Parts: sequence; structure tokens; C-alpha cells
Amino acid sequence: MIIVIDGPAGSGKSSTAKAIANSLHIQFLDSGALYRALTYLWLRRGKPDKAEFFENLSEIELQTDYSNQVFHVQANGENITDKIRLQEVANHVSEIASDPRSRSFVNGYMKKLVAQGVFVADGRDLGTAVFPDAELKFYMDASLDERAARRFKEIEGTENDVTLEQVKQNLAERDHKDSNRKSDPLRKAEDAIVVDTSGKSFEEQLSEMLEIIDE
Ligand code: C5P
Repeated sequence: MIIVIDGPAGSGKSSTAKAIANSLHIQFLDSGALYRALTYLWLRRGKPDKAEFFENLSEIELQTDYSNQVFHVQANGENITDKIRLQEVANHVSEIASDPRSRSFVNGYMKKLVAQGVFVADGRDLGTAVFPDAELKFYMDASLDERAARRFKEIEGTENDVTLEQVKQNLAERDHKDSNRKSDPLRKAEDAIVVDTSGKSFEEQLSEMLEIIDE
């Protein structure tokens, strides 16, 4: 069983999905973290030729789990949970995520995982391409300014040395690339419930969504 939450970068999907997972005692799956993991590995290997990198994806063994409010990611036994949040990874992730081979790798991992439990997952194409039969679909959105301000607050004081303006530019670029790519672009599923979080407190929009889930 799965509840999916899609939407643009910084719309609050993952904090909301975590809060839903905590409240309902189900598991959380962060699909963006999986694309970030591939991107981090590609960068760390020195940006090898993409065709070669994508051909050898089967050599990467991912392992994930959600505990203590954190979605942990391991690649071939190495903990890369913090590394995947670096701004350098955010700057390149759309390039890696736009390739059908990385999409089928990530989707295969997610489908296997979800077959084993009850999940709430966040992403871009979960309600349309990956889990079209999900029990419940949400699409979260908010203005670019609001999303940038939230994301900036999250990463302030971490290893990232970026300005609010740079965060805003990165979100806008990613949204553009994610919405315009050929393979499984960011889209609202026809049967998704839209949650616009502009001007709403986190608690307000969370309780709105929990009520819908309860119905
Ligand atoms: O959710 P997050 O911002 O961490 O996602 C990072 C990137 O991963 C997105 O900008 C997008 O390029 C890609 N992504 C995707 N499909 C998903 C989830 C994320 O293409 N389902």
C-alpha cells in the first residue's frame, strides 16, 4: 500500500511525508534521495562518461531506511546520507534524473521496497509513472519565493555555503528541467488532490492532509 506526494522542489513534500509516516506509523520513501545518490556517485567518480555510468548502474547496491526523522541512504555499504544533500548534487541531479536508465533503476528499487510494506513516498512522477494505482495521491505546490525561503532555512548552517538567491535559482532551474524532460516529467496525476501550501502553516496543511487520509 502506498500514499504518494508529488510536486516541485521545496514544496514541503518530504517534511510532510515524514510527518504522515510518523503519525500513521508507516514507512517513508524519499525518491529524490535515490536520484541524488546516483548523482553523488557520478560526481565523486569524477563525472565519467554518462553512457558508461548508466550502463553499470547494476553494480550500485542501494539500501535505505527511515529512522530518527532521517531518510538514510547507503550505496555499496557506504553511508552517503549527508553527502547527497550537498548543493553540488542539487546542481547536477536533473541531468542524471532525466535519463531513462537511471529512472528505471530507481523505479525498480522503489517498487521492490514498496511490495514489502506500507509507505508514504514523495517525488515528481510517483502518481503518474511509478505508482499509478497508489491508494491516495497528493500534489503539493507553493510559490517559488516561499519554497526557496523554506529550503534555505533547512540548509542554513550545514556544509552548504549558498545564498537565498542561489537556492531560488537552483529550484527554478530544476523545476524547469524536471517539468520539461522527456522521461516521466513532473506532472500532477489527474486523480491527485492538490494541496497549495502558500501562506499555510505546516500544522494546518498537515492536519488537512491527515483528515483526507482518514476519510
Ligand atoms: O526531491 P528532491 O528535490 O530531493 O529531488 C531531487 C531531484 O531528483 C529532482 O530535482 C528531480 O530532478 C529528481 N527526481 C525525479 N523524480 C522523482 C524524484 C526526484 O526526477 N520522483
